[in-house]
Amino acid sequence: MSNTPTPEADTAAAPARPRFLLREMRSSCATQRIWKWTIPAFAGRLPDGRTYNTCPSAGICKDLCYARSGTFRFSNVLRLHQSNLQYVLDEPEKWEEQMSAELQHARYRPRDSRAHVRVHDSGDYFSVEYLDAWMRIMRSAPEVVFYSYTKEVALFEERVRPAPPDNFHWRYSYGGTQDELIAPGHNHVDVFPDEESLADAGYTSQAPSDLRGAYGPETLGIPANNIAHLKKKQGASTFRALQRAANAEKRERRSKRTGPSSRRPKAD
Ligand code: SF4
Repeated sequence: MSNTPTPEADTAAAPARPRFLLREMRSSCATQRIWKWTIPAFAGRLPDGRTYNTCPSAGICKDLCYARSGTFRFSNVLRLHQSNLQYVLDEPEKWEEQMSAELQHARYRPRDSRAHVRVHDSGDYFSVEYLDAWMRIMRSAPEVVFYSYTKEVALFEERVRPAPPDNFHWRYSYGGTQDELIAPGHNHVDVFPDEESLADAGYTSQAPSDLRGAYGPETLGIPANNIAHLKKKQGASTFRALQRAANAEKRERRSKRTGPSSRRPKAD
């Protein structure tokens, strides 16, 4: 038996890709068919040893993140999300091509309404290239409506807001390191301890339909997921309030380290 490798054996087998990259959202707030694209939340390690961070602007949300506990951590679920991320990282052009081709399928052309795709029910727009790829994909499927919650405020203000795809709705999500860049009047979402506190603050609940993320009013609220240890950690505050407190604490620590500012006001 020869030990000479055959040409086939030399070629690393390309990983099998699923026929459909988008999956149907199964959640009580998905009142009509919504498709979703998911990558793993926040930081982790891929099976091949590479590390990643899909939420570069996560703030206090990373310690209260529903997508970092429960079913999202089941090994088969996490493996699927990581393989989605690996596809984007390793073969970005092929991934984009497959995603654009998939969106031409009849299942994204319902007779009675428009198909909706939520980009990320976990993870975020982690790089300029990835965001740009999504905007090209969106433009390639004008009949489909896309929407996202994101903490990448600076990136969106620079690259999306000036000329967004017509079929894209996005909403800034509090609890990130860029909260202070969310200008008054921007559509946003905050996570509240419960429905009551949300209503008391004058917010509209997202609970009846996730499509409120796309079409809801400027002030949308999400009642905290029913995950006991996360609810306990969140207490009676919103993500926005927790992030504000964390920022203030950080500033305080910094000013103690560096002392009072040495800059003096300039004389007229
Ligand atoms: S940005 Fe979203 S997915 Fe990422 S850690 Fe925060 S809540 Fe989780």
